[in-house]
Amino acid sequence: MTVDVLSGVVSSARAILASGPICDSCLGSAFGRLGRGWSNEERGRALRTVLGLDGVKGGEGRCWVCHDLFADVGVWAERAREKVGGVEFSTYLFAVKPALRWQEAEAFFTERFGLEHAEPQKHAWNRSVGKAFESLVNRGTVDFNDPDVKFTIDLVDGSISLYIASLFLYGRYQKLVRGIPQTHWPCKRCRGRGCATCGGTGKQYPESVEEIIAGPFVEAARASGAVLHGAGREDIDARMLGTGRPFVLELCEPRTRSIDLDALREAANAAAAGKVTLGRISWSSRGTVARVKETLATKTYRAVVEFADDVSAETLERALRSLVGDIAQRTPRRVAHRRADLVRTRRVHAASGAVCGVREAEIEFRTDGGLYVKELVSGDEGRTEPSLAGRLGMVAQVRELDVLDVASNEFPDCHDDAMDSRSGVS
Ligand SMILES: [Zn+2]
Ligand SMILES: [Zn+2]
Repeated sequence: MTVDVLSGVVSSARAILASGPICDSCLGSAFGRLGRGWSNEERGRALRTVLGLDGVKGGEGRCWVCHDLFADVGVWAERAREKVGGVEFSTYLFAVKPALRWQEAEAFFTERFGLEHAEPQKHAWNRSVGKAFESLVNRGTVDFNDPDVKFTIDLVDGSISLYIASLFLYGRYQKLVRGIPQTHWPCKRCRGRGCATCGGTGKQYPESVEEIIAGPFVEAARASGAVLHGAGREDIDARMLGTGRPFVLELCEPRTRSIDLDALREAANAAAAGKVTLGRISWSSRGTVARVKETLATKTYRAVVEFADDVSAETLERALRSLVGDIAQRTPRRVAHRRADLVRTRRVHAASGAVCGVREAEIEFRTDGGLYVKELVSGDEGRTEPSLAGRLGMVAQVRELDVLDVASNEFPDCHDDAMDSRSGVS
């Protein structure tokens, strides 16, 4: 600090102390950005000593800037400690919603004394509460970006609320049976409230990949729930085999953060009883959710297709070869009620297959993400062009569909032995 700045501080402090009752924290915060290492309170007390005004508040009554809010930080820290009881965390953050009076007083204070080096009072207060909280609970460090727990103190209505950051896990899953949706669907009849049709469960399907996978993790993390963010989704009647589908599992409001991923993966696989298999699970982050959801990965499918008429191996092969290239696909009728109706161009990278049985073939397609394979086969009444049905000049339908691979450079590979042994691919 230069001599000029120092004499400026001393004369400003003298003027502030002459203006009315003021607390050490507010006095110190007026010069809070000048030097680190001291708390505002310590700085304010030192200034008072320098000016020979020890113990002099500047007048009777409450601090005219903060109304003695800094004297309350211990009370708020105690309330935060009660609020977070039983919740595991290592990082925290405090935020405050100040009352209008305080904001106005601060603005007036800063302007009247021309305080160029003042620290915003909200920052100073949050930090003070945080320090008091840390020494109360004897753990935790402040994290401004991604804290495990965040307290919001509302000085208008006197409330304190606790936000617990989700945990994010990355992995891949296989779905080895048909008829299970990826995520839980509310009952169509009662929209989730519970009715006779759904047996009071509120669910359209008794179970989902999401619920099967999440169970043991939710329990161990003492979470309020879980959300499965998948890299796309297979149809309910399609299996997800091969390397599995990448996903991020979000555990909401976990009260325990240190969980054993390997042990829980094993427990989940055991409980899933051959319906779902999890690959290796690793720690992930909120940022990965968007990456996993938005990446259009190349997909490999196996389809069992039925034809209205006999098809020779040569005809099938020619038709499949001719499908490799760009496909113009209008939103299929079966999903038009929940997706925008538009025409997309998606690519078929490879198509090959063999006639097996009467008017039936097993076909493997490798396509861009977002291409609807059932419609690539059926043509969807001309909405998908070209299509296998169109090329063959006869009705063709997918009877069984399996996804064999969801591939992208974006996704770490979580393939492992558990998947190999139960891949179900013949
Ligand atoms: Zn004050
Ligand atoms: Zn229902």
